[in-house]
Amino acid sequence: MAAKDKKEQRLQGTPICVGVAIGKPFVFTFSDDLVPEFSISSNEVKREITRYQKALDASRQDIIRLKDQLENEGPLEGILIMEAHLQMMQDPLITTRIEEEIRTTRKNAEYIFQIAIDEYEEKFNKIPNKFFRDRFKDIQDISRRIMQHLRKSVRITLADIPPNSIVFTHELSPSDTAEALSSSIKAFVVQEGGETSHAAIMAKAKGIPYVVNVNFGTTLGQAELKSVIVDGRTGEVIIHPTQRTLAKYRDLQKQLDIHLTNLESNGTLESETIDGYKVLLSANIEMFEEFDMLHKYGGEGVGLFRSEYLFSFNDDFPNEEEQYVLYRQIVEKMKGLPVVIRTFDIGGDKFRSFQQSFTHVEDNPFLGCRAIRFMLKQQEAFKNQLRAILRAGALGEVSIMFPMVSGLPELLEAKQLLKETCMELKSEGIETAEHIRIGCMIEVPSAAITCDILAKECDFLSIGTNDLVQYSLAVDRGNHAMSYLYSPTHPSVIRLIKMIVAEGNRNGIPVSICGEIGADPRFTSLLLGLGVHELSVASRYIPIVKNAIRNTSIVEATELAEKALGMPTAAEIKNMLVEEYRKNVAHDFLYNH
Ligand code: PEP
Ligand code: MG
Repeated sequence: MAAKDKKEQRLQGTPICVGVAIGKPFVFTFSDDLVPEFSISSNEVKREITRYQKALDASRQDIIRLKDQLENEGPLEGILIMEAHLQMMQDPLITTRIEEEIRTTRKNAEYIFQIAIDEYEEKFNKIPNKFFRDRFKDIQDISRRIMQHLRKSVRITLADIPPNSIVFTHELSPSDTAEALSSSIKAFVVQEGGETSHAAIMAKAKGIPYVVNVNFGTTLGQAELKSVIVDGRTGEVIIHPTQRTLAKYRDLQKQLDIHLTNLESNGTLESETIDGYKVLLSANIEMFEEFDMLHKYGGEGVGLFRSEYLFSFNDDFPNEEEQYVLYRQIVEKMKGLPVVIRTFDIGGDKFRSFQQSFTHVEDNPFLGCRAIRFMLKQQEAFKNQLRAILRAGALGEVSIMFPMVSGLPELLEAKQLLKETCMELKSEGIETAEHIRIGCMIEVPSAAITCDILAKECDFLSIGTNDLVQYSLAVDRGNHAMSYLYSPTHPSVIRLIKMIVAEGNRNGIPVSICGEIGADPRFTSLLLGLGVHELSVASRYIPIVKNAIRNTSIVEATELAEKALGMPTAAEIKNMLVEEYRKNVAHDFLYNH
């Protein structure tokens, strides 16, 4: 059926990163139903054919191994099937024809191969004799094997995607997303993903609309599809949009651009409430590109630098010098503003295979050897990072922050290492920060409940709500099936925030929020009402949150927080915040829809 004959179809997902996009679908990863399709240049043809030949060869070896095994112990029938498979794999339809197609169409091997298998299936389905029809199962078996080998060698990255693409994928990893170019990728549509997974955080940092939990299955038929609309505000994905729908969304895009440009021009305005309560608004940063935005939007510093994203962590840790060069650049880019560098947060959903090369495969990586736990076990690498940060600290206002602390001994051990490192640098005559502020992230309930003890041992606390929610509610932040339970407004979470802020005040140290809750303007008044006066959000969200702050009265925010603290469920609190935002910041149609 031609695209123009197809009916407009709407799929509903969970919105993660706001924004509206219109683009051409690009299927990025394999799942049971989806195979990636991409074009290759003429000088890549040879490499692509070799990749296919290697996959064929590896599949043949698998079958020979299986056949040998069966010869020792298996039934004769199995051996005959394996022999038949080996013969089928010599068929020119599987060998030379695929190679020829790669040459002429200049498409990737798996895409060509899948088309050939689909054609086979069609032909076999027409055969009246059931015996012969059932032979297609053998072809399916072989093709699954070949696809598995192709999958291992697929070389596409999100950096290779053609312009104006809407990427449809089963899942996204943080490192995949880190490679995505916002100039090419207009939106992500993901089958399985969590709201605050690190992949989602990267997409937000890049300003790429992102919708998860979309069951697109086989609905795409991408070859015929010219455009798809993604509404990152509502989570709607529109396939085969009519001309009318397209016109409506083009208009919406224009209005959103004007709205954002208006907010962005607030860069020089104070970040304070209607009644003059000052809120320190800093940036969370993962990539160098974000510094310009920070300055443009009037960010007052970096509240969280996720240092692990600067490096690839393929084979080894980056050495001290490599890190120093980058941290020095960060200090230069800050132009005198303060920056908090978080030590490597590796493990969980980040750099898992690297982390596993030092530990072992963990059943529960988020509860395993992650962040400070991992780095305390890799003392040499940890010290290298501390040395590089301390050296960069001699050049500007640098603070250091430890992630995923679960209790006092971890904080004390990290502080002891920092002290030793500082003394070593001094004894080597290397310039180092005279005094470096030490921060402790509060992301684990045990740390939240004992934050009075931790507060006495550091200069500031930073609440990582992404993890605090996951660990308090026992909901994996990346598990889409459990996302209905992942609620930052859960009464337990807001009580913990109130308690941490109160303990920070009692101990005379500042407390900031650096989790994603801080970047959603519908939460702003609640957080201010709970006593928070420092927020760190992805740079591009600074204008949105500043606008929310400037439309909030601290007196009303305090009343709102009191009300929220008396409510029994996350849903009631969330509904109240959504309604209040609609009333108080009615002009923000990015969040009110
Ligand atoms: C958090 O957990 O809220 C946080 C800011 O850290 P990350 O998202 O990098 O785990
Ligand atoms: Mg965290």
